[in-house]
Amino acid sequence: MVAQPLTKQSTIAERWLQVQQRVVEAANRAGRNADDVTIIAVSKTVDAARVVEAVRAGAIELGENRLQEAREKIHQVHNLLTSDSAAPTPRWHLIGHLQRNKVKYIFDHFVMVHSVDTLELAVEIDRRAAARGQVMPILLEVNISAEASKDGLRPEDVEAMARRVEELEHVRLRGLMTIPPLTEDAEMSRPIYQSLRALAAELRALDLPTVRMEELSMGMTHDFEVAVEEGATMVRIGTAIFGARPSG
Ligand SMILES: *Cc1c(COP(=O)(O)O)cnc(C)c1O
Repeated sequence: MVAQPLTKQSTIAERWLQVQQRVVEAANRAGRNADDVTIIAVSKTVDAARVVEAVRAGAIELGENRLQEAREKIHQVHNLLTSDSAAPTPRWHLIGHLQRNKVKYIFDHFVMVHSVDTLELAVEIDRRAAARGQVMPILLEVNISAEASKDGLRPEDVEAMARRVEELEHVRLRGLMTIPPLTEDAEMSRPIYQSLRALAAELRALDLPTVRMEELSMGMTHDFEVAVEEGATMVRIGTAIFGARPSG
């Protein structure tokens, strides 16, 4: 007989439920409807079998940050799910840095790119989308805290970028995304999330015809409740659903 472990590890399904519950509570605190918050389960470094566990539990919006890893995994996940006609179909979000020469690979897999931070990238997505007769929804990644080492547009450059993206017929600007500096303290993220929301409101006021500032992609495992309180419509949660990732 195998000895029972002393501490019971919660399953992915249990953790998914807990995260949903915490989103509901945060939404309630802010007088928001939790249905207006999409939880994106970030499955980077998680193997396909465990991703399928999450999908079966109801986590159908999935996020990957690296294209190469994502392409292989998406294929595996879909193969594992096709044997089961009752299984829901996952929707994949690209949340990490995208190189221009990889843009051609995004269209088969992803429903949205959260991390557009240069005009060149937006133009390339537009060009490839046009060739396929598709339109790709995108978010602009904004570096609110202006850390030199990170990706993302400076807040003062976002309006000009939105005006240029507006001219592209095969990308559709749907909102903003940000990643706060790494910290344990969720309250450190609050002013950053407030700034992102304020910036989205400024862009909305411009009334650019094809731009809809409807999504705020902000909040991760350590601070998603703060993000929901500050208006997030998409939270990107990995660790709280799948457990700690291998470091390095
Ligand atoms: C990894 C990652 C997340 C999720 O991080 P957790 O802290 O594990 O929830 C969210 N957004 C992006 C862009 C990521 O790369």
